[in-house]
Amino acid sequence: MKYCSECGSNNLRYREQNSDSHFRLTCGDCHHVFYQNPKIITGCIVEHEGKYLMCQRAIKPRPGTWTLPAGFMECGETVEAAAIRETREETGAKVEIIAPYSIFSVPQIDEVYVVFRAKLIQFSDQPGPETLKVSLLTTSEIPWDNIFYPAISDILKRYVEEREQSSFGMYTGCHENGIVHFTH
Ligand SMILES: [Zn+2]
Repeated sequence: MKYCSECGSNNLRYREQNSDSHFRLTCGDCHHVFYQNPKIITGCIVEHEGKYLMCQRAIKPRPGTWTLPAGFMECGETVEAAAIRETREETGAKVEIIAPYSIFSVPQIDEVYVVFRAKLIQFSDQPGPETLKVSLLTTSEIPWDNIFYPAISDILKRYVEEREQSSFGMYTGCHENGIVHFTH
């Protein structure tokens, strides 16, 4: 942000606030404080007969890498609806939510990922514009070395292991800090 959306001033800086411990982006002229909070990204692990719905990214960052269908939650929608919508937009597939599976934080880029387990209702091989290719991949076909972000491959690996035991946990944590809590 270059200009204050309240008064148009370019006197924007991070300033310490009296009332809390954070430096906040503040306008030096009208003193408006711009509160900035993490963004929520949500998506689905869609497993169908031992295959996983994955998409190859067409867009930055890291085009060509593979990932789970996921994207930014919009204002006015529920996190479940956002996960279903993003899966539809990126892969063309219709899915139904089964259960929450993972909540992980990426504090370096101020993002939180909420991933659900979901059931495939209808497959389509017509991906959206953000996707180069959509495929249902067996575990041996998953390009483990070419996955968009390490936490995504962590989640998928856990899912594959748990599926073999037919018992799914619930995870929260942060890939970089190595903090993962789970319950069954
Ligand atoms: Zn201002």
